[in-house]
Amino acid sequence: MNKKIGEEELAALSELTGIAKTIISKMHKLQLLDISGCKKLLIRNEFQVNIDNNIGRKGVIITLLADKYKISRSLVEHIIYNKNANTHLFCRKCGAKISKYISKKNNGNCNVCKST
Ligand SMILES: [Zn+2]
Repeated sequence: MNKKIGEEELAALSELTGIAKTIISKMHKLQLLDISGCKKLLIRNEFQVNIDNNIGRKGVIITLLADKYKISRSLVEHIIYNKNANTHLFCRKCGAKISKYISKKNNGNCNVCKST
């Protein structure tokens, strides 16, 4: 993701978090901001606002956000559905659905495949 963040985005971030823009700008200047974390927050929020305001179908909104933030549609989807993507992983060998915990523990394999 682009590591630059504009004034407009800083303002939106300020509104979203309730942190004064002068403080956010200062943190940005000191390179204390997690730019991709900030953008993810903005993208998730903007997606929800657009859905709430009935701007269009989900696919349309995703394209809109991809254009605006100059990232791929799949990255936007990943950011929006992050939670779901994290809770359902698949075994590398047999493709069975496994939890994040199991995946980490067995190096990407399910309990059955870990020993094969
Ligand atoms: Zn397996």
